[in-house]
Amino acid sequence: MTSDGTPAGVSWAGTHVYGAQALREPGTVEALQELVAGASRVRALGTRHSFNDLADTPGVLVNVAKLAAPVDIAADGRSAWVPGGIPYGLVAQQLHAAGLALRNLGSLPHISVAGATAVGTHGSGDRNLNLSGSVRGMELVTADGSLVHVDRDTADFAGMVVHLGALGIVTRLELDVVPTFEVRQDVFVGLPWSELLANLDAVMAGAYSVSVFLHWHTDTVREIWVKSRIEDAVGETYFGAARALPSHAGPIEQVADNTTATDGSYGPWHERLPHFRFDAVPSHGDEIQSEYFVAREHAAAALSALRPLGARIDEILLTTELRTIAADELWMSPAYRRESMAIHFTWKNLPDEVSALLPDIEAALAPFDARPHWGKWFRMPAADVRAQYDRVDDFAALADQWDPEAKFRNDYLSRTLGL
Ligand SMILES: Cc1cc2nc3c(=O)[nH]c(=O)nc-3n(C[C@H](O)[C@H](O)[C@H](O)COP(=O)(O)OP(=O)(O)OC[C@H]3O[C@@H](n4cnc5c(N)ncnc54)[C@H](O)[C@@H]3O)c2cc1C
Repeated sequence: MTSDGTPAGVSWAGTHVYGAQALREPGTVEALQELVAGASRVRALGTRHSFNDLADTPGVLVNVAKLAAPVDIAADGRSAWVPGGIPYGLVAQQLHAAGLALRNLGSLPHISVAGATAVGTHGSGDRNLNLSGSVRGMELVTADGSLVHVDRDTADFAGMVVHLGALGIVTRLELDVVPTFEVRQDVFVGLPWSELLANLDAVMAGAYSVSVFLHWHTDTVREIWVKSRIEDAVGETYFGAARALPSHAGPIEQVADNTTATDGSYGPWHERLPHFRFDAVPSHGDEIQSEYFVAREHAAAALSALRPLGARIDEILLTTELRTIAADELWMSPAYRRESMAIHFTWKNLPDEVSALLPDIEAALAPFDARPHWGKWFRMPAADVRAQYDRVDDFAALADQWDPEAKFRNDYLSRTLGL
């Protein structure tokens, strides 16, 4: 029983109370296998950073953080096996100490590797895949308790990586790694909205990773965070936007100083690519998040279609963030076969108001075939979500094949995908 009196507690932001009967934390793979084999309904819970009921189950939730496993680097230095239940921040420290890096990270290093890659968590950068794109192998416990190894040579692996928890409980993942690198972070302010729309592709392509933070009913964009590698040129202005003063407020009026260094100093990749420091509580906390992915060629039109809703959006918004993601081949990835722009909303913690506005946002984005972030709030019906994924029937068949008794199914999969 957790301190709030519910068997499995609440999501990180408190936006979902897990309805599971129990939370288990097996200490060995064998104990996990036994647990899954004996359960009628079971799902994995990561670090609880999804904002909805994606992870939940009416049965037993399982967290694999206690499965001890080393970060195991391949002899050729091009990949590493990492435990699924631990946060990227811990994996990053070990990789960096070995002279290695992941190509990209999300805005926070606190999320578990298995939970993040199950949903296609992303950072930014035109040439950067989402984090699931780095997965080259997985070990998972399937419905009958078997420990199964799959990798890029396995048939249908592209359907298994972004799995939404529907295929099994992942114990370890093999990730692509690259030689370690340094990144600097610079912040620019005052870019007019009109300039952003006129130069959107170039603004997003101007460095290794670019994030644009904005409100909608304003003339200028709030802040642009530009994450550059040593080979990128960093000027004193960015598309006419001025360098922010060291005392700049940040995308959200932060309750605490929790962001990574934005002073233009170079530092290790894992201390610059995330917006939030691993040793601090990320983001605002008292919040809800939503995010929609559109193809890059529709990005400016999609932003323009949302602007008429700007006053209503801004009333309940902490910040919007725009990021880009390279196209991939993973069937259920929001970036499946689309160079993508992610349009993100960090909302004030006003569930009724957010719920009321989301259908209007989704209607405005419908002409652009928007795909919702699996781990955040959205209201799109299953038929509309399914229409965005060419391989959804194949994914459903895979889930049936791997989980014939529907142990890993839940309300979320039924409501959002008709599974
Ligand atoms: C402050 C904040 C910032 C965020 N920033 C970003 C961002 O920059 N980019 C982005 O894309 N998203 C972002 N997110 C969303 C977040 O990355 C995703 O929701 C991610 O899934 C969270 O990982 P988790 O470990 O908390 O997973 P959970 O939320 O616990 O679970 C998510 C899914 O993964 C499955 N899962 C978890 N562990 C396993 C396992 N071992 N085996 C099988 N399935 C498993 C669960 O069953 C569930 O389906 C943010 C969230 C927060 C709270």
